[in-house]
Amino acid sequence: MTKINVTRSSMPSYEEYCEAIKPIFESKWLTNMGPIHNEFMDKVGSYLGVDNVSLFTNGHLALCIAIRALGLTGEVITTPFTFASTTHAIVDSGLTPVFCDVNPDTYTIDADKIEALITDETSAIMPVHVYGNVCDVEKIDTIAKKYNLKVIYDAAHVFGVKIGDRGIGSFGDVSMFSFHATKVFNTIEGGCLTYSNKSLESKISPLRNFGITSPESVDMVGTNAKMNEFQAAMGLCNLKYIDENIAERKLAEKAYRARLENIDGIKLSPVQEGVTQNHAYFPVVFEGFKYNRDEVAQKLSENGVFARKYFYPITNEFSCYKGKYRGETPVAKKISENVLTLPMYAGLTEDEVKMICDIILK
Ligand SMILES: *Cc1c(COP(=O)(O)O)cnc(C)c1O
Repeated sequence: MTKINVTRSSMPSYEEYCEAIKPIFESKWLTNMGPIHNEFMDKVGSYLGVDNVSLFTNGHLALCIAIRALGLTGEVITTPFTFASTTHAIVDSGLTPVFCDVNPDTYTIDADKIEALITDETSAIMPVHVYGNVCDVEKIDTIAKKYNLKVIYDAAHVFGVKIGDRGIGSFGDVSMFSFHATKVFNTIEGGCLTYSNKSLESKISPLRNFGITSPESVDMVGTNAKMNEFQAAMGLCNLKYIDENIAERKLAEKAYRARLENIDGIKLSPVQEGVTQNHAYFPVVFEGFKYNRDEVAQKLSENGVFARKYFYPITNEFSCYKGKYRGETPVAKKISENVLTLPMYAGLTEDEVKMICDIILK
């Protein structure tokens, strides 16, 4: 039986990667903002359509540094329908997450519920563009301006997504993209921050390199979160194929939709108007279907298809957070209990999608 996993990392050919890392063996410059790092930084920034970009060894540390660079304090309004990283970044920074519920269609923060959660302690909103769906960036921007709050987007899922012709990383104060192996675009591990205010760079750069501001001065308590040359080389290689990869994902999504649309008890993500999507995930919510989510997942795995209960549990149900923080999130909880993300990656064939759908529908 051939196994189909929920995702498969995109990679260049072995030869192509070897060619890309050859200069490293000649220069012996392995990390600390080397020439490949800088070339990749420029190329990924222009692909994302952003003014400023800083590269990191992973997305999570990038998120933590965004929080530090913006000087956040007190409470941060966020959602629990996300990967552990978002909530951990807030708590690990000594801040208090306040959980806002999500929109039942897009699974992103319900912007109409943000204002009621704002107090004198609130310093920021940290929404998540979930599965490749974009948040209501305009409404969030209006609220942030009205209450003088910072906005950090967890953009881990939205590499390459645009609203109109504007790159998604150009909204809010800072956005964090993850380049983890399982994401639409990878540098093995890796990530970046994008931001429109160039002056932030003077905080972000030292924070990712021990707070070092010049050879003999350390002006802030920093960490080590630099991207190395081997990661950047993988990024340069993968960037060449990103449009092709996203096009293949789009075909897989089309094949799924052709079979699963308009079936009683199966709810698919909406196609957001005016948004260039990246088809990062294919989430399906089972509500009133003849089998529940867990039964479908079980049946699929018996047939060698490994879908994922993503995001389950939601972060405010984790044992380390349960009952500790403010905010009711019944919509997020319900989606989390009924959602399954089906296999989705560049190269997933139409026949494979058909096979997966047949198992579900039978
Ligand atoms: C992957 C992911 C992260 C963390 O990124 P890493 O690069 O793995 O550290 C953060 N938030 C979300 C929503 C993610 O999916």
